[in-house]
Amino acid sequence: MSKVVVIPCSGMGKVYGLIAREAALKVVRELKKDEAETKCLAYLVTGDEEIKNYMQGKKCITIDGCPKMCAAKMLRKLGQKL
Ligand code: SF4
Repeated sequence: MSKVVVIPCSGMGKVYGLIAREAALKVVRELKKDEAETKCLAYLVTGDEEIKNYMQGKKCITIDGCPKMCAAKMLRKLGQKL
């Protein structure tokens, strides 16, 4: 079964953005390491064919650090189901 891809925003300028990143790593490295993985949001937005193909049909969960919801918006733009 395919792992769920957990994508945090890249909130470098906000403490909740930092917490989003830490939370994603906690999930994929400790809590659900056999069921979840993560990929860089920045890599996804490059439009790179390899990551686009990899993400085809994957289930995703985004974690955003503020109401701007950058990760959720970007994944929706890329056609991912959240
Ligand atoms: S959602 Fe966007 S603006 Fe808000 S902390 Fe994350 S990257 Fe920054």
